[in-house]
Amino acid sequence: MRIDKLLANIGYGTRKEVKKMLKTGAVLVNEHAVKDAKAHVDPIQDRVTVHGELVEYKEFIYLMMNKPPGVISATEDNFQETVIDLLSPEHAAYEPFPVGRLDKDTEGLLLITNDGKLTHKLLSPKKHVPKLYFAVIEGMVTEEDIEAFRNGVTFDDGYLTKPAELQILKSGETSEIEISIMEGKFHQVKRMFEAVGKRVTYLKRISMGSLELDEGLELGTYRELTVDELEGLQ
Ligand code: URA
Repeated sequence: MRIDKLLANIGYGTRKEVKKMLKTGAVLVNEHAVKDAKAHVDPIQDRVTVHGELVEYKEFIYLMMNKPPGVISATEDNFQETVIDLLSPEHAAYEPFPVGRLDKDTEGLLLITNDGKLTHKLLSPKKHVPKLYFAVIEGMVTEEDIEAFRNGVTFDDGYLTKPAELQILKSGETSEIEISIMEGKFHQVKRMFEAVGKRVTYLKRISMGSLELDEGLELGTYRELTVDELEGLQ
């Protein structure tokens, strides 16, 4: 990998800024100054320092975000703020993307990574990774709804949903529920409730497989996954 790309990826500045820094002799590779931006390094094998500080290179980053409402689960958009816009330049430099989508008004757990293999594994319908949501529902959620979701409900386009586990936390004019689904169709939870004549007024993802939302994360903030959290997903 080119040294200028490596250092820019890690957040040492733009390629141009890194090139300038290299010229000053601040960067050593295996104790030798490297001034040529085109020089190649092995990020794992070579010992790279900048102003004497060891550069720790990671190929992948794994971030857990508590997605706030009002931002979209995309990498870039000309008009709307995206979850990637909420990342620091150091994290954005890894060019990560959200694993699956939450609606603009949905909150909660969003995994953001540049690891395509893990993303595929988590999103593949064959892997049946359960996703748990908390929702507030306009209308009374009943035992019949639990049964209906267990058997699958039909969307207006004819799609029959896979079995889902519904748990009623509070039932009344406004109900509170938790729902676990194994698939991720567009507006899945909202459409499932629509299919039984009810409306989701608040939706928050709580977990995805073994990964649980860290409730200590304020809306719009994020942190790197712990080693245990990452191992649980792999
Ligand atoms: N189901 C929805 O309807 N919306 C989401 O954002 C996630 C699941």
